[in-house]
Amino acid sequence: MKLREREGPLTRELLQSPESFGLGRVPARLLPDARTRTVCGFCSTGCGLDVHLREGAAINLSPNAGYPVNLGMACPKGWEALAPLSSSDRATQPLVRQGGRLRPTSWDDAVGTMVQRFRAIQERHGRESVAFLSTGQITTEEMAFLGTLAKLGMGLVHGDGNTRQCMATAVVAYKQSFGFDAPPYTYADFEESDVIVLVGSNLCIAHPILWERIARNKHRPEIIVVDPRRTETAMAATQHHAIRPKSDLPLFGGLVRLFLERGWIDKAFVEAHTSGLEALAAQAEAFTLERTCEATGLSAEQLETLAGAIHRGKRVSFWWTMGINQSHEGVRAAQAIIDLALLTGNIGRPGTGANSITGQCNAMGSRLFSNTTSLLGGRDFASAGDRQEVASILGMSEQRIPHHAGLAYDQIVEGILAGKIRGLWVIGTNPAHSWINQHDLHETLSRLECLVVQDMYTTTETAVRADLLLPAAGWGEKDGTFINSERRIGLCKKVARAPGQALADFHIFQLVAARWGLGGAFREWSSPEAVFEILRKLSRGRPCDFSGVTGYDMLDAAGGVQWPLPEGAPLPERERRLFADGKFFHADGRARLILEASRPVPEPTNGAFPFVLMTGRGSSSQWHTQTRTAKSPVLRALSPQQIYFELNPADARRLGIEPGQWMRVVSRRGEVRARAFPTHCVRAGEIFLPMHYAEVNRLTLAVFDPHSRQPAYKACAVTLVPEGEAPAA
Ligand code: SF4
Repeated sequence: MKLREREGPLTRELLQSPESFGLGRVPARLLPDARTRTVCGFCSTGCGLDVHLREGAAINLSPNAGYPVNLGMACPKGWEALAPLSSSDRATQPLVRQGGRLRPTSWDDAVGTMVQRFRAIQERHGRESVAFLSTGQITTEEMAFLGTLAKLGMGLVHGDGNTRQCMATAVVAYKQSFGFDAPPYTYADFEESDVIVLVGSNLCIAHPILWERIARNKHRPEIIVVDPRRTETAMAATQHHAIRPKSDLPLFGGLVRLFLERGWIDKAFVEAHTSGLEALAAQAEAFTLERTCEATGLSAEQLETLAGAIHRGKRVSFWWTMGINQSHEGVRAAQAIIDLALLTGNIGRPGTGANSITGQCNAMGSRLFSNTTSLLGGRDFASAGDRQEVASILGMSEQRIPHHAGLAYDQIVEGILAGKIRGLWVIGTNPAHSWINQHDLHETLSRLECLVVQDMYTTTETAVRADLLLPAAGWGEKDGTFINSERRIGLCKKVARAPGQALADFHIFQLVAARWGLGGAFREWSSPEAVFEILRKLSRGRPCDFSGVTGYDMLDAAGGVQWPLPEGAPLPERERRLFADGKFFHADGRARLILEASRPVPEPTNGAFPFVLMTGRGSSSQWHTQTRTAKSPVLRALSPQQIYFELNPADARRLGIEPGQWMRVVSRRGEVRARAFPTHCVRAGEIFLPMHYAEVNRLTLAVFDPHSRQPAYKACAVTLVPEGEAPAA
């Protein structure tokens, strides 16, 4: 059946207006300008970039000097943001697998095939047998469209995003501690602190513009880095505490106990604005000085130095990223950091906060509006009141809204293995590279009856396994908004034409909606800005209320707007933080103090696997699975192209390993061939592999935080074997 035969009004309009499919030129409103501002589409810093246009097409870009985030700076990825758009492996037309090969087809056939196959699977195996995996890289409007279409329209029960791999821990920690997923800070806090504590965060590499914000701090701050590796950030710090991998909870639990014992707490703040002090003190008993030193490997003197600096600080800010989030006990570790900030009254004031820095450009949009772990607007699927509210705003039946969030990413993978999930729609992410314990995932994906991949490129490790490939426009080829780490909603503009028949994800969702017979239900979802208006309504009265943002023009003129901004509120100064009034989002207005005992690392080293493997970012010119950054010759030149591992020179000498020597890194799950890079950045008994190389997740261990279900990428046991030799038994 042809698309036109089943089209709703929505589809008819689109078919008559191919420009709105991304097939046309850059929007006319940009044409008179030689330059227009947009926000970067790589990381969560959310830098403002000026795109230079000639005859309506982007020809170059430069950092925007007036944007309050980056103040005229950009990292290498930002400077090269246009390069990945012109890569020769762009997906330019829909592809369907026939006779074992992906062959070109029409949009009409591709969408029809997807709908027909997913429906057939659902009819045979139930609604829950089709799921989706999305991304923190598409716009907020697209995330909301996908989450609403999939869960309220197509009846998919299970869907998750790659934000599970980076931010789920912070989300759960904030929800439980503050009552809402609300990173409290503003980037100006980097400049206002007199003590900055960076935990599991290599800011210089992962968020270089935020490191630049620290460099602007005029208070000569104490910069404390807690990280097993001597990272670039640790080298630039005033204190570096190299704890054992995954001993963050013992460390911060120990600090909580020490601060309580010594009375180094802000009693007035704790009494007025928190609850749970008694239980916290009881739990803290287990974190004795001896146990803390034993677990972390730090001496009592080192702990004293660290604690003393925090105690003396007047404006102490705590910042964490993946070193905390990707852990078997990440949520409780994050909450121990939050506890310390609350106990010392370091929140709600300039230069303070318990601050999770996000990863992807729109992870924060995903956290609020992807309709995966929480219902639209940070609501709860399990709450009848929340479901009614959303149904009423969307004009849809409440019966369509699931009563629970559905399976998390790892549970979806398990569901495929168990034969419960047989159809999967993957949007803008590359799990065949990025998911933990990669070998098992490859085998798992092969069990699907239908794998639909929606992506910019034909060559990702996941796209090559697709039964159906839907070509998507990328950053710069569509309009929409991103929300950055400091809650700033920024406007991302279409400045280039998507190649061939590639469409914005937004338009692909419109086509799927129409073909599923939902064109009428999504009539109002006619453009990204129309959806932004729906999101405004969904945010009203919520902690993330941005009903005062009247539209894209306001975002553009203001240089982005941090939520909350309720309707009628004046547009405030450029940067602001939460909790200045000491009121948190729990019903009683109090933050919760939460601490739990630490658990042993899931895979300790032993004689056969004597090294701890840590993974992380390699350089500021590499982004995640390098799907985009590897397309830029400039970025390729700035990072090692061959996979390497860091090991301590003492280990290299002991094992007779020469610099640059190819070795096999072997875990219980697989092995990787990599070149040795001896460096004092890692300690004896520990090695480090950058996550950007496709092989790395052959090694990692599929263990998850029990509260956030975030994978614990950061520590597993491995051994090193010379090429041509077998591992020792
Ligand atoms: Fe800024 Fe991040 Fe883009 Fe670099 S990748 S320019 S730090 S937003």
